[in-house]
Amino acid sequence: MKRFDVVVIGAGAAGMMCAGVAGQRGARVLVIDHARRLAEKIRISGGGRCNFTNVHADRPERFLSEDPRFVRSVLRGFAPSRFISLVRRYGIAYHEKHRGQLFCDDSSERIIAMLRDEMTHGGVQLWQDCAPSAVRARTEPDDGGGNGEGRGARYEIDTPGGTVLARHLVIATGGLSIPAIGASDAGFRIARQFGLRVVEPRPGLVPLRFDPQAWAPFAALSGLSLEVDIAVAAEGRRPTFREDLLLTHRGLSGPAILQISSYWRSGQALSIDLAAGQDVTAGLHEAKREGRAFVETVLAQWLPKRLAAGWLGQSAFADLAGERIPQVANRRLDALAQAVRAWSLTPVGSEGFRKAEVTVGGVATDELDPRTMGAHRSPGLVFIGEVVDVTGWLGGYNFQWAWASAVRAAEAMTPG
Ligand SMILES: Cc1cc2nc3c(=O)[nH]c(=O)nc-3n(C[C@H](O)[C@H](O)[C@H](O)COP(=O)(O)OP(=O)(O)OC[C@H]3O[C@@H](n4cnc5c(N)ncnc54)[C@H](O)[C@@H]3O)c2cc1C
Repeated sequence: MKRFDVVVIGAGAAGMMCAGVAGQRGARVLVIDHARRLAEKIRISGGGRCNFTNVHADRPERFLSEDPRFVRSVLRGFAPSRFISLVRRYGIAYHEKHRGQLFCDDSSERIIAMLRDEMTHGGVQLWQDCAPSAVRARTEPDDGGGNGEGRGARYEIDTPGGTVLARHLVIATGGLSIPAIGASDAGFRIARQFGLRVVEPRPGLVPLRFDPQAWAPFAALSGLSLEVDIAVAAEGRRPTFREDLLLTHRGLSGPAILQISSYWRSGQALSIDLAAGQDVTAGLHEAKREGRAFVETVLAQWLPKRLAAGWLGQSAFADLAGERIPQVANRRLDALAQAVRAWSLTPVGSEGFRKAEVTVGGVATDELDPRTMGAHRSPGLVFIGEVVDVTGWLGGYNFQWAWASAVRAAEAMTPG
């Protein structure tokens, strides 16, 4: 049987990074992936240009997890600047798009090639198109077989190429999103096999669906976009995102919806500030003092003109359409401002894992040691990347989690 210090299941972002670092630090490493093509998610990420990190991705509050302290501890060990240095060393040109998001200038393929080279420098073996059928802990102490080399194997992995032995078994199988390109629940199954708790996985960074009938009056506004503040109405300590919102013929879309989807639970209403924090109350009263403009014309200070008219016509203030602002009582202006600042809509569902960019939930952080990413109750069993209950915001945060958790594990497995 072949023996390795480290066997990694999953050759995606986290798995490749971990293998490369562990290999370069002297470990004998095998990476196994059931897909024919390497790192499909990196390839399609960022619209083909891979938003590989975010300069603000060292902020744990920009991640969802049961335990923000766990996230903080792991992120601290590998700052975005360290990944940026690696990208620079490979001469990969990149640019900042907005809000700290870093993208390749040409193609995601450059990041895949870089990680592949890192694995080659570490002498890593890569078995692609190879689906492991079972993993188990060894019950017998391992003397290393023939010459004693690689002694201390703790796990056995059955593969079409035979059973391999590993001292460290790293699960880097990612989340459930986009099964069409190789996502599977293997990581969660392995965690449960070893008695580890899994926080119920659900789709994140996913388009939300709206009731076609309720949306019908707005369908004509399809194509409009504007910057808004968006939050889940019910959440106490809620994050609010200032992002672009896109109106489509089926509902709302764009980065604002993707961001809030990770926090949204079925049945909850969204609260949307169409004026993105501007003082609509003061603006309406000022317009009243100054002139005879129509209400929708004044609203067009903050909203695209067609939206101002369309939204007013569908709101509880429909009677103000075609009304001049001096005719409107102050109390109604206050209420109108409030409605613009907190447009409430309840999605009927999400597009699910088929369309989600990430999986929220995963292997519970209290089952893992943040210093090693290893399971407390199964020495040598390690979980990294998206399979863990840590999910980042849109904008390079999820790759940064993959890199940081991978490096933390690789360094812990290869001390000295
Ligand atoms: C469309 C899209 C765009 C995205 N864009 C961005 C972006 O620009 N920036 C960003 O930060 N994040 C982005 N993400 C999220 C990001 O891709 C993931 O968070 C990241 O790839 C997770 O890394 P990972 O290594 O944990 O998992 P993955 O990269 O998904 O890798 C998992 C690997 O495990 C393999 N695998 C799964 N099951 C098995 C099995 N049973 N046996 C063997 N192998 C298995 C898979 O084939 C895959 O190669 C995007 C995601 C999607 C879907």
